[in-house]
Amino acid sequence: MMKINVFHVKSQLGSKQSFRFEVTPTEIDLDSLDVDGNILVEGEVVNIGSTLEINGVISTKIVRNCNRCLKDYTAVVKIPFMEKFQLVSAKVERDTEQSYFTGDEIDITGIIRESLLLSEPMKPICDEFCKGLCSKCGTNLNEKVCSCIKTDMDPRLSVLQKLLKE
Ligand SMILES: [Zn+2]
Ligand SMILES: [Zn+2]
Repeated sequence: MMKINVFHVKSQLGSKQSFRFEVTPTEIDLDSLDVDGNILVEGEVVNIGSTLEINGVISTKIVRNCNRCLKDYTAVVKIPFMEKFQLVSAKVERDTEQSYFTGDEIDITGIIRESLLLSEPMKPICDEFCKGLCSKCGTNLNEKVCSCIKTDMDPRLSVLQKLLKE
């Protein structure tokens, strides 16, 4: 759980308070991601009226599987997040677009978990220059060159490519 005590910051307009959490993926129910090490969350709370604005950065390492070469790689991720929480008494009618808080604590666990899940790419790629696997023999073309490549290339196409480059 990542709960920020806002007892002081909520009482004065313009006041700020920084926070820092370090948690394991299990602590915030994030076992669906392959996190390498801990998750660090740093940021600050700013009082902008009857609302507290929370912004910060999530830093961690995530093991992903490359969509091109099918190898695991570790991505260093830094994800910024921002959320506004309006102070309400329990009786106020709530509109669903806005986040609310009552009392002296704001739990940001859900925001952190969601930010991490949403920032995962649909098709992760280990490197933008990843050459992937040979479609014929399955060789990882980042590691070695297979003999399929030459026969694969249509000679007429290579002439055309040359012309296009010039
Ligand atoms: Zn790759
Ligand atoms: Zn090949």
